[in-house]
Amino acid sequence: MVFDSIGEAGHEQVSYFTDRETGLQAIIAVHDTTLGPSLGGTRLLDYETEDAALEDVLRLSKAMTYKAAAADLPLGGGKAVILGDPDEIKSEALFEAYGRAVDCMGGRYITSVDINSSAAEMDVVARETDHVVGTSDGLQNPSGVTAHGVFCGIRACAEHVYGRSDVEGLEVVVQGLGKVGRSLAEELLEAGAAVTVSDVDQEAVEAFAAEHGAETIEPESVYEQSCDVFAPCAIGGILNDETIPTLECDIVAGAANNVLAERRHADALRERGILYAPDYVINAGGLVTVAKDHFGGTYEEAYAEAEEIERRLLGMIERAAAEETTVLDAAEAYAEERIAGADGESPTTPRP
Ligand code: NAD
Repeated sequence: MVFDSIGEAGHEQVSYFTDRETGLQAIIAVHDTTLGPSLGGTRLLDYETEDAALEDVLRLSKAMTYKAAAADLPLGGGKAVILGDPDEIKSEALFEAYGRAVDCMGGRYITSVDINSSAAEMDVVARETDHVVGTSDGLQNPSGVTAHGVFCGIRACAEHVYGRSDVEGLEVVVQGLGKVGRSLAEELLEAGAAVTVSDVDQEAVEAFAAEHGAETIEPESVYEQSCDVFAPCAIGGILNDETIPTLECDIVAGAANNVLAERRHADALRERGILYAPDYVINAGGLVTVAKDHFGGTYEEAYAEAEEIERRLLGMIERAAAEETTVLDAAEAYAEERIAGADGESPTTPRP
């Protein structure tokens, strides 16, 4: 049964770890190391069942393979889950035991932060293994790089749709004024775009509008708002059967992960004549920063590298147009071709 799940998505390795003293239960999934060591965060969740945890780690590690490959990074896809209620199980001893588990992987898996694990936990993991990024002495806060990458991605979309990459005068609706959305909205305003912002935190919206002179809109009206670009920077699953028919934009391009409720919604957007920039392509600035942290480099270098998203995404958009398919299909094809074209040698460790 486990071999069936693993084989289906082509995973290389799935390892289960326990520690008697701390009660650690962790699964590390390595999807593909053709392009380099697998990298992905550690998610701490109280899964309903062990099968649900396995399903999650398999899905997330595969997604990391595509994300890294589509960002031209020398990395493969991996992910880890620690099972349990974070409030009950989180302890230094648990993360030390987890660090030893990561170390057992011999560099085939590099871990980082994810839901319920932060720099503080990665600092503890780093006592036991070198195969960790996202520690407090690493490159902090990739959100500015992520936002800059999204900005460059919007330029690529504008180039295709309007024949000019300049965002001056473009009407952009930014959903979510968190770490990425705020930074993106500021960069767009500086570049002369007409920005409308929205968040469930009304106070944050009012404060931003007062400081920057942006327009505001209620969170529930954001989809019907007529604009050139809708930039979702809040939560996943918001492009679905209810919202897609109501959209009044030419382009959807934002940072939010898993923004499509289902894969078929990429086709639904295309059928409506809306250009959708795949989330994992346009929000890759975060991963670029993590990669810089791992391989060595500065925040400024990561920021500059994120600008490559413009050229890469435009190539995918043009390919999708030529092949009459979605940009999501074109992005997947790009990633798969990169993996197929590699020589199969991982820079760190041999493949099994
Ligand atoms: P964040 O938690 O700092 O901000 C999210 C914001 O969205 C918050 O202000 C929240 O109030 C708001 N929000 C939540 N639900 C909303 C709704 N229904 N309508 C409007 N606003 C809503 O998160 P972030 O780091 O800015 O990340 C934003 C998105 O980008 C997430 O999906 C994240 O997974 C993705 N992402 C972030 C990075 C990064 O570097 N931070 C990298 C890649 C992808």
